[in-house]
Amino acid sequence: MQDMFENAKRVASTAVERAAWEADKVRRTSARQREIDLLRRERSAAVEQLAGVLLDLDRRGELTQGPLQAIAARLKALTDDVNRGESEITAIRNETFVPGTISINVQRKDDPNAPTPSSSAYTTCPSCGRSVRRSAAFCSACGAKLK
Ligand SMILES: [Zn+2]
Repeated sequence: MQDMFENAKRVASTAVERAAWEADKVRRTSARQREIDLLRRERSAAVEQLAGVLLDLDRRGELTQGPLQAIAARLKALTDDVNRGESEITAIRNETFVPGTISINVQRKDDPNAPTPSSSAYTTCPSCGRSVRRSAAFCSACGAKLK
């Protein structure tokens, strides 16, 4: 009887110990994660700053290094894409309803006016094969020149 009691006590204390150990693991990893999140934010801010300096040098015609010029061109193209996307959203939000302009019938597969994949806003990068905006001058994944 005494043995059974001691055994139950040991099992219970091991479970308590394990729960405390698990909680400590969670606490330590989330503390590190918070540090990493802050570092990532700081790193992004530094990269943004670097981009600003790079674009500034490019505007003044002081970028002589080919690879830096390519990055500057890619940054400008991506910024243009972001701005274009944002104006598209604004334009869509500002659209007003005009009755009789939208067909509520489901489009048939053989509808000649149905949008085809090739008419989408995206295309495939010939260099890396990833999906890129049709209007992009550079691939956002591998940096290949698209135009
Ligand atoms: Zn690519």
